[in-house]
Amino acid sequence: MPEHYVPDNLPERIQHYIDGSLVDSISGATLDVLDPVTNRAYVTAAAGQAADVDRAVAAAKRAFDDGPWPGMLPRARARVLNRIADAVEAQDARLAELETFDTGLPITQALGQAQRAAENFRFFADLIVAQADDAYKVPGRQLNYVNRKPVGVAGLITPWNTPFMLESWKLAPALASGCTVVLKPAEFTPLSASLWAEIFAEAGLPDGVFNLVNGYGEEAGDALVKHPDVPLISFTGETTTGQLIYRNCAEHLKGMSMELGGKSPAVVFADADLDAALDSTLFGVFSLNGERCTAGSRILVERSVYDEFCERYAARAANVVVGDPHDPATEVGALVHPEHYEKVMRYVEIGKSEGRLLAGGGRPEGLEQGNYVAPTVFADVTPDAHIFQEEIFGPVVAIAPFDSEDEALKLANSVTYGLAAYIWTADLTRAHTFAQQVQAGMVWLNSHNVRDLRTPFGGVKASGLGHEGGYRSIDFYTHQQAVHITL
Ligand code: NAD
Repeated sequence: MPEHYVPDNLPERIQHYIDGSLVDSISGATLDVLDPVTNRAYVTAAAGQAADVDRAVAAAKRAFDDGPWPGMLPRARARVLNRIADAVEAQDARLAELETFDTGLPITQALGQAQRAAENFRFFADLIVAQADDAYKVPGRQLNYVNRKPVGVAGLITPWNTPFMLESWKLAPALASGCTVVLKPAEFTPLSASLWAEIFAEAGLPDGVFNLVNGYGEEAGDALVKHPDVPLISFTGETTTGQLIYRNCAEHLKGMSMELGGKSPAVVFADADLDAALDSTLFGVFSLNGERCTAGSRILVERSVYDEFCERYAARAANVVVGDPHDPATEVGALVHPEHYEKVMRYVEIGKSEGRLLAGGGRPEGLEQGNYVAPTVFADVTPDAHIFQEEIFGPVVAIAPFDSEDEALKLANSVTYGLAAYIWTADLTRAHTFAQQVQAGMVWLNSHNVRDLRTPFGGVKASGLGHEGGYRSIDFYTHQQAVHITL
């Protein structure tokens, strides 16, 4: 194995960013951040508590109440957002090495994340400049129009998978809308978020508009959710955390957007282009280490091609290269954290009594330390199995056969989640009919993962609440006041 790569110039410590300054926690509390390849703490991050959140929210509120940002012309805000996009894009190589080091994602998959993040800023810069609000006229009697206003201080809480990109997904529309923000990144992976402070400062974002508090969810996240001066929370993370946040938002009737877990089906009919379906379903669960909310982690295959599919799938899975995340040959790197590794390994063990193990099933040979899991394939998994029902969030897939379209639909819909679905068939009428009936917020027909930024993003059932994407994000971060005039 090549020697483990450690990026140059890692920060000596990771701090909060409040009102334009890098600061430690008021209490001095810190948390250890682990390198997923060695599981050694390589840096400490400030562990924010309620007092730090109070400070950040106060700065964001001042910037909202007294600062120029919410009232700036959309075009002026857009200029800042475009400068942010340029600065983000210029960091692609640096971001990729930091993200890979901190999260364990393969370097080839971390590269390009900055471009995706930059596109989010450019997209929302364009959208606010082009924003048109409704006006309704009753000739000679009434004029009614919509006055759109940013909601205030937005609390943004994000997970550890592709952390920087997912942060941009919330930061861009919140800032574009004129909100000020407090971001609470995931405690496992605070490294890449530490790039934001400089990016925003260089782009000319006024102090206090962007604030970042690191720390544990139960402390910093909880304080942000419960803060009375934060009228809305945009959350991405696990369903159980979302449920708790939902309850905690109730007291102040906060606006909420919830992007939660998934157990998405990939449905392969016998008439599908099997080569393409194989490529896609392998990518669907083994890219990003399987730590992907839209992972196609259940594959349903029509009986007549089931054996062939399983055999070819397992052979390909067994050849997926697991290794050091910084090695360009690596296809599956190290899982983010030992706690998460333990969780995934528990499911691998459970799976051995719930399905027929076709590939993987434990730690790959030759990788004695670090959070490595061999791409694991279980076939003949029944719908009541834990590995069929529960989100594993690792490189583990459950395959099951079906005999009819009705059965495929029933299986697809038989879980609590409803984030994504992937349909593989040559029959387009069937594809569209299935899409209509499948309980999923997003459906890909004979394709995967490409989406236009204007489309809605979000899940149904236990996978989320509300939709972001395009003007829906602007709707979330703004109030639409109706103004009525009698003529
Ligand atoms: P998590 O729920 O454990 O944590 C997410 C964030 O919430 C972290 O910043 C955490 O510190 C914070 N948090 C935890 N407890 C909190 C509390 N009581 N109050 C406030 N904040 C709290 O999720 P994770 O393990 O970091 O991320 C993986 C999960 O995210 C998976 O379930 C995955 O499917 C989901 N996810 C969903 C999407 C989507 O768009 N639907 C995208 C990415 C990830």
